[in-house]
Amino acid sequence: MTPLYEGKSKRLWATENPDTLRMEFKNDATAFNGEKKESFDKKGRLNNAISTLIYVMLEKEGIPTHFVREIDETNVEVKKVDILMVEVIVRNVAAGSFCKRTGMAEGHVFSQPIVEFSYKSDELGDPLINDDYIREMHLATPEDLVHLRTSALKVNDLLSAFFAKCGLKLVDFKLEFGRLASDPSVIVLADEISPDGCRLWDLKTGEKMDKDRFRRNLGNVMEAYEEVLGRVKETLG
Ligand code: UDP
Repeated sequence: MTPLYEGKSKRLWATENPDTLRMEFKNDATAFNGEKKESFDKKGRLNNAISTLIYVMLEKEGIPTHFVREIDETNVEVKKVDILMVEVIVRNVAAGSFCKRTGMAEGHVFSQPIVEFSYKSDELGDPLINDDYIREMHLATPEDLVHLRTSALKVNDLLSAFFAKCGLKLVDFKLEFGRLASDPSVIVLADEISPDGCRLWDLKTGEKMDKDRFRRNLGNVMEAYEEVLGRVKETLG
């Protein structure tokens, strides 16, 4: 069997249901647009476990998502969607490309969250784009964009409060959205929510508990992901 799609950290497989897919979390980690690569034994299992718990929590809080059910340790069933080619990034604290772009020091706390968009294109290195680019590139309509921004801010409120209970600061994160194949007028949250796509800092020590451990060769990458999963489970009871 060949996957319908294989990305850097996940594979998508057909299921018996034409409206759903099986999303498999791989053990591969990549950074800097695929230039840095490594495989970690537990990564697929840890990201699936974290992402599943968060998706279930977001669904309970009224956020429509692609999530259907957990199949096993590394697989979930998700609704088939057409992914919008816009990545939505929310920032609460300055880090990563924001610091590179502005020269602002890492750790500066924003007075309000920043929402930004990038064009989902490996070839171009996911460049930063704005509302006008998105309209003219037909990546989403201005109405869709209002929905993406509102949803992303709502997710930020929910996740920031949740991770604070876990003793973690949600510094920034990336979201992806998709149109349901069964009803393209409906846009839902898709992809994964894990330490691969969120910056999480320990509230007491400031220690990085996310993919920056891999990006910056800080070591103990899976230990940090395991700690995040432990805290998420404990907080959810
Ligand atoms: N991010 C992601 N995928 C991307 C780009 C960013 O998951 O292709 C996440 C990243 O992990 C961080 C947030 O989005 O939590 C903001 O990333 P940033 O723009 O600072 O990019 P980076 O520092 O990764 O280049």
